[in-house]
Amino acid sequence: MSSGPHRPRLLPHVLARRHVAAGQPLVVLYDSERLSSHRVGERTWLVLSAMDGTRDAEGIAAFCAAAGSNATPEEIRALVDELADQGMVSDGVAITKASIAPPASAPSRPVRELPGFSLRCDGSGTCCRFYPSVAFMAIDAARARAARPQVHDCGHDPSRVFLPLYGSDPRASSVLLVDGRCAFLAEGGACEVHAAAGPGAKPLGCRTYPARFVDDGVALRVTPHPECACVFTSGARVDDAGGVRLVPNGARIAADLDPALHIEALPSEVLVAPGVLAPREAVSAWSLAVFDAEAPDAVASLCALSHSLVAHGLDVEASRRALTSPPAPPSEALSRAVALLAPRVQALAAEDWRGPADMVRVTATALANAVLLAQELAADLAAGPGVHAAAERFYVRDLLFGHYAMNKQATRPMSLLLFDRAARALVARELAIVAKMAELEDPAFRTPLALVEATMRGYGLNAYQRDLAEDLSPC
Ligand code: SF4
Repeated sequence: MSSGPHRPRLLPHVLARRHVAAGQPLVVLYDSERLSSHRVGERTWLVLSAMDGTRDAEGIAAFCAAAGSNATPEEIRALVDELADQGMVSDGVAITKASIAPPASAPSRPVRELPGFSLRCDGSGTCCRFYPSVAFMAIDAARARAARPQVHDCGHDPSRVFLPLYGSDPRASSVLLVDGRCAFLAEGGACEVHAAAGPGAKPLGCRTYPARFVDDGVALRVTPHPECACVFTSGARVDDAGGVRLVPNGARIAADLDPALHIEALPSEVLVAPGVLAPREAVSAWSLAVFDAEAPDAVASLCALSHSLVAHGLDVEASRRALTSPPAPPSEALSRAVALLAPRVQALAAEDWRGPADMVRVTATALANAVLLAQELAADLAAGPGVHAAAERFYVRDLLFGHYAMNKQATRPMSLLLFDRAARALVARELAIVAKMAELEDPAFRTPLALVEATMRGYGLNAYQRDLAEDLSPC
């Protein structure tokens, strides 16, 4: 007798992704709550894809039979029980209520871009071959299929290229990745959808990347995610007339932007340091007053700023002093932070189904070595940024202007999140050394800090902040 749901539905935190790895097609299920991944065969995926909350085991068996596959109701019930034990399925359809939540940003909120920043894309396609999900809304997928129907035959069978972005919800999809690359990325680094149908045919996330939008209660801050080498090289050229702005020309207020954009909002009260809350408007003013302080060394400056927030709260003079004239950073605490991060990096590097050409595999392997060495060599690495000084200066500026050291649930203090960023900058210094020794020639390795950031966000490694919070209580 089955104890699992009668009409199973794959839950939204289960992310099914279609890959081709070294020529082999496969489906990987990521559990974004447990941060684990499971490789499943095509036949199993067909069964899972029928779990949308409307079918019982007999209905799923009939669905599979209609698709030319066979699975008995007994097999299906056993699979459902297993998935239920792992918290991956629920019972019945999701009830979609009309949203009554207010928009994340008031329409009249002024748009405030990172001053002087505009983007020059280097065209190497790094951002199209690194992330685990490239989101396509239904209209985006329709455009891409019309523009390039021959890509993995998606014109005839969309399921060869698109799987649900979340669970079994069909409203948005994620694209097939071929050795980590978006299926629509041509060999030379160009987007095939763009080439065939123009930039407006690309999915919204691709059109707006690398922009991040955060409403801080005063303005809508727009900054580039520091996750791509182009962002750092562009950031070094302030007021570049040849670069592209992150928002359309003429966009002055939130209402001028695409209403489908994802906008994050700061909580009304922000946790500045343990036990210290401040209204988001005060944090907005503080950020504006400190972001342009010249930070000579991201590791030292971010550690000092973290300490200053604990000691002095949002005191602007103290924060600017910390950024511009930081003392030597606490290498032991940094080493400990890197040790907490290490198991998550190693788990990513251990995804042995990835092919040797997969940039994620190459990066995770190098990063796994970097986190091991950075624990040992923290004191040496903390000595200074060396050739990465300009990149680190931009990094600090971008983080502070874009409110990256805040989380919307206000569960982690800014002081802790700044310390986390200092640890990332330290790891990036070691990654540069590892990449040089291993002769990794991919242009993405020219800016290791971007790779560290992209890996942390893209592959859920940010979750190590929970361990950091338990370990580093003074932050
Ligand atoms: S759709 Fe185009 S721009 Fe978007 S990830 Fe794929 S190749 Fe890159």
